[in-house]
Amino acid sequence: MYCPGCRAEYREEIESCPDCEVLLVAELPPEGPDTDLVPIFETADVSLLPIVKSLLDSAGIPCVVQGEEALSVLPVGRWGAGISQSGRGLAATIRVDKARAREAEELLRPLAEGEPPAEPEEA
Ligand SMILES: [Zn+2]
Repeated sequence: MYCPGCRAEYREEIESCPDCEVLLVAELPPEGPDTDLVPIFETADVSLLPIVKSLLDSAGIPCVVQGEEALSVLPVGRWGAGISQSGRGLAATIRVDKARAREAEELLRPLAEGEPPAEPEEA
């Protein structure tokens, strides 16, 4: 069995990749531009991940989350305060098939923007 996310090989009784949390497949799809996974969303906020996943899921877009494990081992209670010292290493990245990337980006745009849109300042 193979992981479609990181392409690691597992024994037959293993059903999902512990790193990517995706179901393993019997055969990897051929590598090529059409099957590339591209990162469409990156966040250090672990609470966003279920939202992102359900959005993609409801749109029928398969996704792979990388780095979620690193986030989930952190003490969640202190996460908000400590976010600035984490750096890129602790961000989770959501990847989707390149063919669906644009669609997924549209879907996640409200989340990806994160901050509320800048309002015109009153003079
Ligand atoms: Zn994997």
